[in-house]
Amino acid sequence: MSLIVIKTPEEIARMRRAGALAARALAAVLAAVAPGVSTAALDRRAETFIRDHGAAPSFKGYRGFPASICVSVDDEVVHGSPGPRRLREGSIVSIDLGVHLEGFHVDVARTVAVSEVDESTRRLLATAEAALAAGIAETRAGRTTGDIGHAVQRLVERAGFSVVRDLAGHGVGRALHEGPELPNFGTPGDGVPLRTGMTLAIEPMVNAGGFAVVVDADEWTVRTRDRARSAHVEHTVAVGPEGAEILTGLTVSAPI
Ligand code: MG
Repeated sequence: MSLIVIKTPEEIARMRRAGALAARALAAVLAAVAPGVSTAALDRRAETFIRDHGAAPSFKGYRGFPASICVSVDDEVVHGSPGPRRLREGSIVSIDLGVHLEGFHVDVARTVAVSEVDESTRRLLATAEAALAAGIAETRAGRTTGDIGHAVQRLVERAGFSVVRDLAGHGVGRALHEGPELPNFGTPGDGVPLRTGMTLAIEPMVNAGGFAVVVDADEWTVRTRDRARSAHVEHTVAVGPEGAEILTGLTVSAPI
């Protein structure tokens, strides 16, 4: 069980700056997503952008991870490694990145279509976004991790999809992974009470089919067991008394 660390307003200000940079880095990577682009090229774009702004990519070297971003295509849920593989028309791709700046990490992810996709895939992407919003809407002092998980799970299952059970969101700060654990399922009122100053990476992983996942032989890539598609979205937020501040949103102006 990782430690829960309450941040001071000054520490949250640092994470806000890291989050603004992460949002811009992610936007730069997403702008490069197109058929024929290699996942390694997306990784280079992210690493260059982050380092050019005086920060470091959180993921590179983390537990031996070889790259600055995770790139997970179609039935891959999370933790795909960039490489020579090229994006194809009709695919979806999740880009997950972390930024380390001023002593703090932030974590953010989006899943987008590489080109035109079918209606059911569009609905999967929209559901993942809505699930993240629903989880964030539950985030405030006095609520619990179970409230967040329940909100995510209910929205996803009502849409006819499933939430991954084997992976969860997490606290984030001086360490990339802190407590509390944030499952994407749960019961209202259960789990860890939320407190002002907690900083959380909320990250629904939404499968078009069943919730079961498997890990590839590379020991990183997580994919759906039934090979149906999966979408993953993530924001780092700060818990406040009235709600959550999204630290990795593009609406935050970047004083960098
Ligand atoms: Mg995360």
